[in-house]
Amino acid sequence: MRLPAIPPMLGDLIRTTLLAMDGVSFTHLPACPRCGGPVKRHDLKEKRFARMRVNGDEKDIHVFVARFRCRACGGFWYAREPFYEGVRFGIPVVDLAITLSRIHPYHRTEKILASFGLIIDRGTIRMYARRAQREVPATDLLGMPLPISLLSLSNLVSRRPKGSPVTGAEVLAALGFPPAHRAAEHPPPPPQERDEGDEKDQEKGGDPGEKEHHGQPE
Ligand SMILES: [Zn+2]
Repeated sequence: MRLPAIPPMLGDLIRTTLLAMDGVSFTHLPACPRCGGPVKRHDLKEKRFARMRVNGDEKDIHVFVARFRCRACGGFWYAREPFYEGVRFGIPVVDLAITLSRIHPYHRTEKILASFGLIIDRGTIRMYARRAQREVPATDLLGMPLPISLLSLSNLVSRRPKGSPVTGAEVLAALGFPPAHRAAEHPPPPPQERDEGDEKDQEKGGDPGEKEHHGQPE
């Protein structure tokens, strides 16, 4: 199997962009998404944005997402965050996997992502592709289709002054996708179940056959 020729610059761009997300905080939620009531900051959760191979070592890129409690209805909600509902990796990572899988088989998409330093197994890629939660617009860069969300984020990261971190608000603006998610304490409703499935896929990282059932449309 041959991989398409991948310009080294493209790998650099993707690595630099995703590494810049490490430690970024998302702490904004204007009101309860369900009842519109006032919300109070409850705690701060660490979430994995991407898993990468950096200088030969696996490294998780984490962001922090505040959790709020509604004073009116008591519901728990995450701040606006750069994740799709119930999906473990960050939006630009998921969008990249979806975009590449449109023109490559899942196993080759896995290898192309690996050449960018991104670790996502093919079963997870397949699940992302089959459960896309919105249109994923893309454009060609150096002969490779890339999602607009990733390019916008890359643009943000490259424009920042040297040494100054990007902020959560800037990241959300670049992604054009500010969802607020329920942050259930205990009973996992369907989106959280999907979340768990996603996580298991990530941890197992192996047999694509066994993961087939995760990828079925609902
Ligand atoms: Zn509420």
